[in-house]
Amino acid sequence: MILKKISLYSFLFLWVAFFTTCSRNPVSGKKELTLMSESQELAMGQDADPQIQAQYGMYPDSAIQRYVNDLGQKLAKVSHRANIAYHFRVIDSDVINAFAVPGGYIYITRGILAYLNDEAQLAGVIGHEIGHVAARHSVKQQRNAMLGQLGIIAGVVIEPSLARFPESASHGLGLLLLKFGRDDENQSDELGADYSTKLGYNAHSMGNFFTTLKRSSGESASQLPEFLSTHPDPGNRNTHVQQLADKYQKQYNITNPVLNRNAYLQKIEGIVYGEDPRGGYMENGVFYHPEIKFQFTPPSGWQYQNSPSRVQFAPKDGSALFFLSSAQGNTLQEAANAFIQNNQLTAEQTAQVTVNGLPAYAIVFSQAQQQQNGTTAVAIRGLSYIIQYNKSLFQMVGVTSPNAFNQLAPGFEQSMKSFKQLTDAAKINKKPQRIRIKTVKTASNFEQVLKSFNVPQSRFNEHAILNGVELNTSIPSGTMIKIIQY
Ligand SMILES: [Zn+2]
Repeated sequence: MILKKISLYSFLFLWVAFFTTCSRNPVSGKKELTLMSESQELAMGQDADPQIQAQYGMYPDSAIQRYVNDLGQKLAKVSHRANIAYHFRVIDSDVINAFAVPGGYIYITRGILAYLNDEAQLAGVIGHEIGHVAARHSVKQQRNAMLGQLGIIAGVVIEPSLARFPESASHGLGLLLLKFGRDDENQSDELGADYSTKLGYNAHSMGNFFTTLKRSSGESASQLPEFLSTHPDPGNRNTHVQQLADKYQKQYNITNPVLNRNAYLQKIEGIVYGEDPRGGYMENGVFYHPEIKFQFTPPSGWQYQNSPSRVQFAPKDGSALFFLSSAQGNTLQEAANAFIQNNQLTAEQTAQVTVNGLPAYAIVFSQAQQQQNGTTAVAIRGLSYIIQYNKSLFQMVGVTSPNAFNQLAPGFEQSMKSFKQLTDAAKINKKPQRIRIKTVKTASNFEQVLKSFNVPQSRFNEHAILNGVELNTSIPSGTMIKIIQY
């Protein structure tokens, strides 16, 4: 469902209501104090999963979902914690990442699937995430680590007072994603190598993937924090995992470890690469939504983040927030009342307006929040337009500090008044890029291979990283490679 309203708040409160308990760690076998019991941990996962699915969107390809889940189940069975139910899902995000939430729910982005080059790497990544669950890393996390990640847009940390603005906090990507310490990450790398080797995979390839991560981190900014950005240096992780691969191959007596490269590449043939325009996209400063058929011009130069539930923007210093989502209610008035009540706002001005011929309702509002010294004061001021379009209600909101509001309000208003029906067929029909698997006919270096497939020179480096090779790497004939096409 596009632009569906969801709230992650119930999840946050679960965290706040934790209590300590003593249990045996499945990996170390040692008794330790944890913040919650196993049943609480499982309940938390069950509660979070539908919200994560709604927020990020599931990648709509049942064959790939099944493939990842089947491999995940095999890995879970050989893990230190095979007694709980695991769920593996591919989320529709182009960010290169993977993450776990408590209770055995593990998410792999389509972005990381595009960058992996064989099944051994996928097994290593999934094994790493199972490792976090098996060693109960998440359960040892402090509540502050969760709160610390409220309101992050494309690496921009939103001002805490704005991030606490309920609707934005509940949508801050990263809310559920746990930050692990270096020791936890190293242990998960070890468990990923352990579990994947146990199934016969070559964990040396998992080590090599850290080189791809390092090369790609310059290409695309990471938004989801887990697998990529909070980890120790990828170079060190590569060295570490190479040693672990040898250790576990010896320990499990694996003499002929497999990569399953071609089988893997055939599985991801056709997977969407990069932003999927069908869920909305930015082009030359304008946001287009080809499925719902609207467009608007957000504040210029702001960081941008799109998810199925909303599209949001923030300046680099995090001092303001602008977003569009669907509105609750059957009429403009109902939606306005719900917005004011749910967020405990003071409506300072309201007006019925029209936006490019569409009926709309404008609200200037403020929100009081409790200060550090315990007193309450106006912490944010904002402008919202609720717009009726076709049979749906959309809401655009711009918020900032009371001091900055007068300066930013004209820009907010201009963006809101730019909302209109999208009629340009070229924008409506924009297609996503996809990974296509090609077989190299004649042996040559990778650069020559790319030329033979008419890849534009501006995208040579991207293809080299995607395929885990250098431009001068010799490619034997018969090799399958990934090419980005429409
Ligand atoms: Zn990790």
